[in-house]
This record gives sequence, structure tokens and C-alpha cells, in this order.
Amino acid sequence: MLLTRWSGTNDERRAAATTVRDVADQRVVALLGVGVIAPDTPILRADDLGVLRGDGIFETMHARDGRAWLLDEHLARMAGSAQRMQLDLPPRAELAALVGEALAQWPAEVEGAVRLVCTRGLEGGEGAVTVFATVSAVGDGLRAARHDGIVVVTASLGLPADVRGASPWLLGGAKTLSYAVNMASQRWAQAAGADDVLWVSADGLALEAPTSTLVWLRDSTLFTVPAPATGILAGTTARWLLDHAGELGWTSAEAMVRPEALAATEGAWLTSSVRGIAAIRTLDGAALPFSAGTTARVRALLGYA
Ligand code: PLP
Repeated sequence: MLLTRWSGTNDERRAAATTVRDVADQRVVALLGVGVIAPDTPILRADDLGVLRGDGIFETMHARDGRAWLLDEHLARMAGSAQRMQLDLPPRAELAALVGEALAQWPAEVEGAVRLVCTRGLEGGEGAVTVFATVSAVGDGLRAARHDGIVVVTASLGLPADVRGASPWLLGGAKTLSYAVNMASQRWAQAAGADDVLWVSADGLALEAPTSTLVWLRDSTLFTVPAPATGILAGTTARWLLDHAGELGWTSAEAMVRPEALAATEGAWLTSSVRGIAAIRTLDGAALPFSAGTTARVRALLGYA
């Protein structure tokens, strides 16, 4: 799918778009205090701390039926990230309205990824944050992986599992703009022929993936890794899934797990708002238990295509 970077007003772009797909091939951009703008409009200054230091926070949500799924949960997590970063986040209602403005320009029948970004604003400025929202299409690869699963390799994060929970300056649990290590981890995995990484602590415990949460099923209990104790991001998708596990006849729990123990489960998945769910088919080259039927039930519970 080509991403068309058209300029012009939104009305001009809409008039030129002949199909829903044309509209979805464009990115929608909305700036707080301004509204929806042409997607190629420059909106960050060269001295914005979000660019200079990765100093800011964000959320990524799943757009379905024209709405951001789990919007309240994402805004609550963003407020937590802002508190941890001592960042002056605008009121929740303004953020929700900004997301709504962006989504109003997106075809409701097309799945989207909604990003809500808040940078610390100008270096040496008075603390006025820069806030914008974007909507873009969900990649075909991510959608296919919900059915086919993915190949994952482990990589050490170099820290004991409990260090971030006790070290607030490491910003555990905050979704900051500093994702260079996350993206480098995924590039490293892809260079090794895998789709993604499962980060492991220095003491050999599974943590999370660079943009996803680990969940696994064992003896009819759906597990994930405890977030506050480990400093991983508390995934909204995994939380929702565990809270609704009863609908599939399962209980839910949080636990630490060694990657090698995932071979003795009924399946392991990476979950995130845009990815939805992807079964880990192999981990470090060894096949993990996989059931297409179980994956389909989980996918349906989450409401992903
Ligand atoms: N862990 C990290 C580091 C992430 O970046 C994400 C995605 O944003 C997740 C987990 C999954 O979180 P969610 O399910 O809220 O999208």
C-alpha cells in the first residue's frame, strides 16, 4: 500500500480521493488548538524538546468503527506517563476532543492507528507542550500476523527485572517518546530473520516486547508479566484481555516467567493496540505450542479482524 503524501486543504484532498482506500492512504493530522491540518504541514520547531531529547510522551490506539478503542484507558495511562515525566499534560477532555477531530476525517470502515503525542515543547520555553494526533492505516503485515503468528527472538535488556520498579528516574511504565532502543531492538531482530524481540531481564526473566506485551495461556489461566514491579509498560490490550478471560472460560493472573518455560504452555502471544494479537510461533528458533483455534477465539474476543 502506498502512503500518498498529498498537500492542499483537507477538502481538496477529499475531493481528489476517489475511494475509501485513497482516503486511508493518507495520514490525518490534528494539532491541539488548531484542528485538522494538511498532513504535510510542519508543526514542530527545531528547538522542540520532543525532537532534541525524545522528551515527551505518546499513546497509540486502535481506530475501529470511527472510534479509538479503549480511549479512556489510554488517556489514563498518558496522564500517568505525564506525572512520572513532570509534564504539564492538557486536560483529558481536550485530548479526547483532539482524537475525535482527527477520527472525524478518517473513514470509519478502515482500521486505523491513532497516535496522540505530547512533547515538552520549546527548549528554554515556558513549558507549553506541543500536542498533536495522527491517524494512519494499519499495515497489512500486522493484520496478517494476527492469523499467521510471528517469529520472535529474545534479547537482553541488561537490567535485573526489579530494578526499574524501584528506580523512578528510569521511567519504567511511562510511554515516552524515547523509543530509539525499542526500534533498534526490532531492527536487530529483523536483521536476524525474525519479526520481533522479547526483552529479557539480566536475571533471565521475560519482560515485554519493544511495542507489545507478552501473554500466555497455561492450564486455562491467561497470564501476563506484572507491570509495576518490573517497569514494563502496562499494556491496555493485555489488561482488557485478562479482565475478559472469563468469557473464554479462563481465569487470569500475573506472573514472572522464563522464556524457556513458554514451551510448556498452551500458547504465547504478543499483544498491542495496533497489532492486536500475534501468536509467537517460534522463540529463538524453537517452536512454541500454537493453536489456530485458540488464537482465533482470543482475536475475536478482542474484536480484531
Ligand atoms: N509495551 C510497550 C513497550 C509498548 O510500546 C506497547 C504499545 O504501545 C505495549 C507494550 C502494548 O501496549 P498497548 O496494549 O496498550 O498498546
